[in-house]
Amino acid sequence: ALIQYILSTIITVLFSYAFSDRMVRQQNLLRELSVQDPLTGAGNRRAMEEKLLAITEHPPTNSSPMPTLILIDLDEFKKINDQFGHGVGDNILREFSFIVSEMISANECFYRFGGEEFVIVCQQLTSEQTSVLAEDIREAIDSHVFDGNIRITISLGIAEFKIQETGFEWLGRADKAMYKAKDAGRNLCCIAA
Ligand code: GH3
Ligand code: MG
Ligand code: MG
Repeated sequence: ALIQYILSTIITVLFSYAFSDRMVRQQNLLRELSVQDPLTGAGNRRAMEEKLLAITEHPPTNSSPMPTLILIDLDEFKKINDQFGHGVGDNILREFSFIVSEMISANECFYRFGGEEFVIVCQQLTSEQTSVLAEDIREAIDSHVFDGNIRITISLGIAEFKIQETGFEWLGRADKAMYKAKDAGRNLCCIAA
């Protein structure tokens, strides 16, 4: 009877360990899903909004550079979908995200803002370095041949954070700069006023 008691206790303990290990892993997975875009693996819009809120609520002191946003919109992406299909379009979004994430450091945060629009938040780069990064990305995409022998270009808007503005206003200035790049013929970087 004692041996039976000990055995059943051991089995119970083993099972509860296995169970809690699974719970922890599932919880980690859920946490990941809640901040990640499932298609591209970039941060999702919610994660981006949280990041902007954290910056605007606690702006950096003058010892570190002002945070800067790079807003990226894929050029004439509707045509890509129309010509090659939505599945091919999805693969391009994935490949694009992979290229960008390889080009930024762990200090820059990369998000899918929506559809074919992405945002990079740079908190450790000077405005000069941010402009260089944006131009490097524009060039890398311009010269990259995507799967299926497809080529695309991107338009970028750059906006440095102004103390007192909201995340919405900050993003709006980056968006306006991006549209200036579109108006000027696409495949360009524009800096916000
Ligand atoms: P512009 O250069 O002015 O940005 O032209 P555009 O065609 O990229 O802009 P528009 O906003 O008219 O179209 C965006 C397109 O992006 C339309 C939509 O089908 C496509 N798109 C958005 N999200 C996804 C997605 O998750 N997968 C695919 N395959 N396409 C998407
Ligand atoms: Mg767009
Ligand atoms: Mg577009």
